[in-house]
Amino acid sequence: MLKSSYRLGTLFGIPVYLDLSLIILAAYMVQAYGSLHEGVAAGLLLLVSITLHEFGHSLTARAFGCHVRDITLMVTGGRATLSHLPRRPWQELLVAAAGPAVSLLLGLAGVLGPLFLRAARLLPEAPAAFLTYALGVMNLVLFGFNLLPAFPMDGGRILRALLQLRMSRVRATWIASRIGRLLAGLMIFFALCNIFRIPVPKPPLPGLAGNLIWWFLSSGTFLKLLLGWMLFNAAEREYRQVLQEEGGGRQGPFAGFPFFGRTSSRTPPPDDGRAVVSPPPYARGGATRIDVHKED
Ligand SMILES: [Zn+2]
Repeated sequence: MLKSSYRLGTLFGIPVYLDLSLIILAAYMVQAYGSLHEGVAAGLLLLVSITLHEFGHSLTARAFGCHVRDITLMVTGGRATLSHLPRRPWQELLVAAAGPAVSLLLGLAGVLGPLFLRAARLLPEAPAAFLTYALGVMNLVLFGFNLLPAFPMDGGRILRALLQLRMSRVRATWIASRIGRLLAGLMIFFALCNIFRIPVPKPPLPGLAGNLIWWFLSSGTFLKLLLGWMLFNAAEREYRQVLQEEGGGRQGPFAGFPFFGRTSSRTPPPDDGRAVVSPPPYARGGATRIDVHKED
């Protein structure tokens, strides 16, 4: 029988799985590089980079006493499935930030390493340029992209942890997940622009950052559509889960907001259908999870 994911091996006691959707990534890489060798090499470097990013999250979570069930690599990135997320905001912040920190280090090594090897005449120009892009620039893109405050991506989790210093977990998750849904909606919007060939204006940002953002807005239609859709659903699902965890949904997201009166956080929300009182059971499903996850 055809399984959707295959076990690659075990590292630090954590099984690593490869999802079949990676075939799409392999085809995309070969097409983007226009060469089988370079496409496969770049694809492998990307997989290693994503794996190390996920180990950054996983080993930090384990240091805080969380059990890491597995790491799965798929076309939209990696995911580490945790038994639970650390409850203290600063611990959650460190777990979320550890992945992008690994990507930043790999990115800097990938840009500076080939420069050094070229200067020392240890590496010819072509492989040095390949490494700079396939390892350096790729990891810097992963670093920047994961820091988007689109909950439940890493940046969104960092945002929620910071918000929790000032407000309840429900309210912080509500704000972070609305921003996540807005950014996911924008990704879908730009993907539709690409499909209907509506030109996307270049953002007025200088240098590499502007070029990369413009490249993301005007290409990768399929990936934007898939990621946007997954993020849009994951943001809502995680918010409902937190709502359920924190007092069975009795603590509405507006509790304690100045505009809605200083209501006690434990009083039931007004019966106007605005707050979800009984969220549906948490939907399980591998494919819709992105990056760090909690397995309940
Ligand atoms: Zn991550």
